[in-house]
Amino acid sequence: MNFELKILGSASATPVLARHPTAQVLTVDAANYLIDCGEGTQWRMLEHRIRPHHLRAIFISHLHGDHYFGLFGLLGTMHLQGRTQPLVIVGPPGLDEVLLTQARVSSMQLGFAMEFTAVDTEAHAVVYEDQNITVSSLPMRHRIPCAGYLFSEKPRRANLLKDKLPTGLSPQQLARLAQGEDLPANDQQSGLRHADVAGPVPTPRRYAFFSDTLYTPALAPLIHGADLLYHEATFLEDLKERAAQTHHSTARQAAQIAQAAGVKRLLLGHFSSRYKALDPLLDEAHTVFPTVELAIEGLLVSM
Ligand SMILES: [Zn+2]
Ligand SMILES: [Zn+2]
Repeated sequence: MNFELKILGSASATPVLARHPTAQVLTVDAANYLIDCGEGTQWRMLEHRIRPHHLRAIFISHLHGDHYFGLFGLLGTMHLQGRTQPLVIVGPPGLDEVLLTQARVSSMQLGFAMEFTAVDTEAHAVVYEDQNITVSSLPMRHRIPCAGYLFSEKPRRANLLKDKLPTGLSPQQLARLAQGEDLPANDQQSGLRHADVAGPVPTPRRYAFFSDTLYTPALAPLIHGADLLYHEATFLEDLKERAAQTHHSTARQAAQIAQAAGVKRLLLGHFSSRYKALDPLLDEAHTVFPTVELAIEGLLVSM
């Protein structure tokens, strides 16, 4: 089963040519989850062939425009494309009010229900769950209420190993084994234990999304050992004061969180428009944490 992240944008606040504001899609099995929805996200989705219809849920970190100004347009498109399936929207309190007001004053009756979950941005708590994943909030420290999200895969069964399966099993018997059941002995066959024909149980994968935040080492234990961390790196370390004033982080600080949390890989994003070249941010983080990449638009990371 796939568990992969596609970057649709990773710029901050003001526009820069060829960079787009924060948006990313996590795909788990066939389900897509949109994380933040900066201006123009639906064009990025078109480019990267992600169909709005296939979005199961949307997670918004906070109500600064670079993280959600694309949302109303995307909802309008889903409506025009005939969506009827309810859409889960998880975000800070007030998001529902903004969207419902926009719909009301433009006399727009969406053809599908929006199911809002208001996140307590001070808490680390489960905010969403389906058959694939559990999502918990991560309390960011920013100028306004802001949540990060930890996406945790549900435990999966071990796959059956073809070379260990005896011949002559019926489709029903194979299905039972695939469900983790043992087959009892009968007149024709001896019994078969699931554990004897299955590979190792896969370790559930986890992706941590840190949106805009002040450097907050206390958050590291919440994501210990995650497969991937996306952390904002708005500034270089020489602007550490500016980062603190604006409740953002530096590339070095992002790497320090990755190191403290013992994650496998780090992605840097939310780059200030002042940086025309991004390599200095990568280099700075690399001195602290080796497995780091820039969250460049179009990047696909499989976990
Ligand atoms: Zn931002
Ligand atoms: Zn912000």
